[in-house]
Amino acid sequence: MGILDGKTILVAGVTMDSSIGFAVAKYAQEQGATVLISNFGQALRITRRIARRLPTEPPVLELDVTDPEHLAGLADAVREHLGEDAHLDGVVHSIAYGNPETLLGGKFLDGPWKDVAQAVQVSAYSFKSLATACRPLMGEGGSIVGLTFDATTAWPVYDWMGVAKAALESCSRYLARDLGPEGIRVNLVSAGPLRTLAAKAIPGFEELESMWTTRAPLGWDNTDQEPTARAVCALLSDLFPATTGEIVHVDGGFHAMGA
Ligand code: NAP
Repeated sequence: MGILDGKTILVAGVTMDSSIGFAVAKYAQEQGATVLISNFGQALRITRRIARRLPTEPPVLELDVTDPEHLAGLADAVREHLGEDAHLDGVVHSIAYGNPETLLGGKFLDGPWKDVAQAVQVSAYSFKSLATACRPLMGEGGSIVGLTFDATTAWPVYDWMGVAKAALESCSRYLARDLGPEGIRVNLVSAGPLRTLAAKAIPGFEELESMWTTRAPLGWDNTDQEPTARAVCALLSDLFPATTGEIVHVDGGFHAMGA
């Protein structure tokens, strides 16, 4: 028996099999869930191909989280695949974007507002957009989980993405406040550095990675997305019925060390 038996879960933000979203979709299926995945634009083609590598090929939805039409049509798109009385028990937001050329890699003092606005919209505001788009399908309550990179301190090279993650973390607490009365829990998993497409696009990402080698008391494998996926699935399950507005660190213990 799996911890997600009988649950239906949408994982938004799967491009490659290195995507954290892919690992979440895989573990969720292994734990008994019916899974749908989504992505947007040109990469949708890749997502459709990658979807076949999951234990069960899931429906792939088109969802640009900045496109009001996609958001408005999301509930119907889910119903198209799962039937008129479809519902969602869980939603995973595994999405972020910040222009690596202007916002990351030591560009903090020069980051232009247009690009900062895009980073905040795609990486933080969209957590709210995705939650409200899925709300009509979550009438029986459920769990929404997003992914952050600890935004309580300033990091080398992460720059404006760190600011966007701070906004995401705050957004998560306000969503927890407003959706709690409907039985919807909202939490984040704060992962250590993982070698995904998004991470490899950050100039100087190795600098972040290298700190984990010496400081994470449990050690850290930056090629293993599964510990993060397991934590996301635990939060999606019934194992955390009274937890919301929380950030669970999956970083080998790095966040708790002073040096
Ligand atoms: P990833 O595989 O590149 O996943 C990011 C996803 O966001 C991609 O599927 C990307 O699609 C999608 N996306 C970007 N803009 C979008 C939009 N407007 N609408 C819909 N989807 C959009 O990288 P990842 O590392 O797994 O990232 C997943 C989440 O984990 C992000 O929130 C990231 O910040 C977080 N996280 C990552 C790390 C790490 O070290 N990797 C650590 C902590 C937290 P395209 O590929 O088509 O652009």
